[in-house]
Amino acid sequence: MSNETVDTAEALEVWIDQDLCTGDGICVQYAPEVFELDIDGLAYVKDAADELVQTPGATVPVPLPLLRDVVDSARECPGECIHVRRAADRVEVYGPDAP
Ligand code: SF4
Repeated sequence: MSNETVDTAEALEVWIDQDLCTGDGICVQYAPEVFELDIDGLAYVKDAADELVQTPGATVPVPLPLLRDVVDSARECPGECIHVRRAADRVEVYGPDAP
């Protein structure tokens, strides 16, 4: 796949489109440091202070050691609603809108 060539040293950020989230929690299993299910049954990203970020479309940085887990989450997400993009130009590199 072409998106395997992404330079993992680049700063990446991730967001979830809650409108499509099925609430199955696969992302939370892969990367509990980044994703969490709220009481509404939907998954949200978490900031560095471990707080859920609930503004629609809001992103958090992807910690490099967790990149593989976050990418696997995006690939396995049944709602196809986890978006990983370059922070610099907001181009999606993993997720439903990646090239
Ligand atoms: S894997 Fe996708 S659909 Fe499932 S809880 Fe996480 S964001 Fe929602």
